Amino acid sequence: MRAMVLDKPRQPLQRRDVEKPRPSKGQLLVRIATCAVCRTDLHVTDGELPDPKLPLILGHQIVGHIEEIGEEVNLKFKVGDRVGIPWLGWTDGECAYCLSKRENLCDRARFTGYTIDGGYAEFTVADARFCFHLPDRYNDVEVAPLLCAGLIGYRSYRKTGDARRLGIYGFGNAAHLIAQVAVYEGRDLFVFTRPGDRTAQQAAKKRGAVWAGGSDELPPEKLDAAIIFASVGPLVPAALRALAKGGIVVCGGIHMSDIPSFPYADLWEERIITSVANLTRRDGEEFFKIAPRIPVKTETETFPLEQANIALDRFRGGKLNGTAVLVMNAS
Ligand SMILES: [Zn+2]
Ligand SMILES: [Zn+2]
Repeated sequence: MRAMVLDKPRQPLQRRDVEKPRPSKGQLLVRIATCAVCRTDLHVTDGELPDPKLPLILGHQIVGHIEEIGEEVNLKFKVGDRVGIPWLGWTDGECAYCLSKRENLCDRARFTGYTIDGGYAEFTVADARFCFHLPDRYNDVEVAPLLCAGLIGYRSYRKTGDARRLGIYGFGNAAHLIAQVAVYEGRDLFVFTRPGDRTAQQAAKKRGAVWAGGSDELPPEKLDAAIIFASVGPLVPAALRALAKGGIVVCGGIHMSDIPSFPYADLWEERIITSVANLTRRDGEEFFKIAPRIPVKTETETFPLEQANIALDRFRGGKLNGTAVLVMNAS
């Protein structure tokens, strides 16, 4: 099968013919239709995340159809079904985290497109327990970005509880999707972009933000919660300063530059800083129920599989007009 392979971080992916995988016990063999590109893919290729499997097939927002079913897969799936394969690829089901509904923190978790092969390829195998059926209203391109930007964004959003005034720092893929959920649920949305980025600020207002400004500005009202999607550490104290008493800052990314020091007074009065790591299957089930109801719309730009390096470069350079989605049979 065709695949784009990462031999080593900080090198372009190599187009290669590799052996088609076979499903083991509990796995599905999936013929991949699309795979969306996530910022985490950039962090892996750029060597910012430790110990990836190497060589590695990247990609953890995979949409495809079941071609073969391994032994002992439950009856939820049949050949031909469309499934989504997310970042969380495997857990042990028996550690303290798994046993307390926090499988996202499993000590032995494996991650698609990072510690196991992912979706920049024609086929992949995946543990059936972690695959999702996807809402019919989306086609294979539209639905792909929901699998990570949507799910991790949703988990970050849920951490903000019932915050009425919600700030979002960094208006990228995840923010676009979560802004739609927040507005649908009646939150007042405040969006912070790079200082002076009027285009992004206008886009945010079109999405229903009551206010949009630079990350160096303070909002007109104190916020009950803020989610930081940009991987920029100094945004943490900036967001803290925008919070009302008891407010929470949620860091939604897997990687962030260092957070500068700040006065304790900014954290005082029960303000909270937390991060979101990975996802649970429950996040997926909830999000795929609510997304088509709103309906959450994705903006995408497609690339043939062979152009994965171009997609990554344009992502890194901020030159995409939507989430990059690799299409396996573009011809
Ligand atoms: Zn576990
Ligand atoms: Zn991701």
